[in-house]
Amino acid sequence: MNALDNNQRILDAVDDRFDAQIATTKEFVAIPSTRGAEGPCQDMIGDLLRQRAYEVDDWHIEVDELKDLPGFGPIEHDFSKARTVVGTYRPTKMAGKSLILQGHCDVVPAGPLEMWETPPFSPVVRDGKMYGRGACDMKSGTIGALYALDAIRAAGFKPTARIHFESVIEEESTGVGALSTLQRGYRADACFIPEPTSGKMVRSQVGVIWFRLKVRGHPVHVFEAGAGSNAIMAGYHLIHALEKLEADWNDRAKSDRNFKAVTHPINFNPGIIKGGDWASSVPAWCDIDCRIAILPGWSISDCQAEILTCISSAARDHRFLSNNPPEVEWSGFLSEGYELKDSAEAEAAFGKAFRAVYGGTVSELAFTALTDTRFYGLYYNIPSLCFGASGAAMHGFNEYVDLESLRQSTKATALFIAEWCGVERF
Ligand SMILES: [Zn+2]
Repeated sequence: MNALDNNQRILDAVDDRFDAQIATTKEFVAIPSTRGAEGPCQDMIGDLLRQRAYEVDDWHIEVDELKDLPGFGPIEHDFSKARTVVGTYRPTKMAGKSLILQGHCDVVPAGPLEMWETPPFSPVVRDGKMYGRGACDMKSGTIGALYALDAIRAAGFKPTARIHFESVIEEESTGVGALSTLQRGYRADACFIPEPTSGKMVRSQVGVIWFRLKVRGHPVHVFEAGAGSNAIMAGYHLIHALEKLEADWNDRAKSDRNFKAVTHPINFNPGIIKGGDWASSVPAWCDIDCRIAILPGWSISDCQAEILTCISSAARDHRFLSNNPPEVEWSGFLSEGYELKDSAEAEAAFGKAFRAVYGGTVSELAFTALTDTRFYGLYYNIPSLCFGASGAAMHGFNEYVDLESLRQSTKATALFIAEWCGVERF
């Protein structure tokens, strides 16, 4: 058998199992695994791994063990049910290179249900697309990686290197799920994360900082509003100042080698706003949860200092805030950007897999969102590739993954595993 025939057997095995892959993906998407509620997804992954005879490690994440590690972001919510699940395959013969396959099972909130054409956690397949919250980001990718491994086995091969299949939580808020696998000691020669990248390889990705503005006001009856100070309006004053910081940072981004070609890579978003108690009372408080991006190489602490300076100088211009400065809380992500480098071997192996499935060479992506790859690449020297299917409306409504693109990315994943880890006949 030559390599070409071997590849074809693996590709055929992906096709043979694709209906089952879609069924499993549907089941996985149907679990409403928003933050704090990922447990049933982790149970399902544990079962899928055990059915396939992987050695399963399923543990509770202890924040205290992670909080001093680089890349940690503060956790504010109930973390008592937070778990990580890792399935390990150990080869009988060690020949190739070891690999981490990682996916996150947490999804962002669905938003107003009436804006969805079909309910977010009742996935449907229509016109070659699967709709549902998490169908694209990134439950189809995680299940795709599992079926990629299945295809190798069904084609009559077994990998000749150690593989860790990792299902993590918290990708959408801090990344501590990925961090927990590294704290636990899982390592490999490369990591592969099948996030939906539209068939492109992430070359560079932004970092993200989350913070909360806690703005105070002076409450009075609205009939004498001029005697008080409106915390919600003061919050707008700070938002406008932060928009200027966003513009400055986008100017700075023009000198970044990967992001200079991207229009507006730094996005600032006031994502949650809460404040006030009564329509006829001048509000005494306003909390605004914000997200802003930074680029690879920018230091988190420097950027935090710039954010604080921006807010305090805006507060000085404000009649009430000048004497009652807002507080700033770091409320989640404190994540550096990541550029994939020192990864020639892994990229060459992936390049072969890509060519066999798509033809040509893979295009690169400067990604204006983050992924878990940063932990492996930045802090543990594990080159971390991010590549996957196409879809749309991640974090929006009517999110979907394109199923033909999923079939192709599953094939590329399978061939990459075979190339990187090596395979032998059963
Ligand atoms: Zn994702």
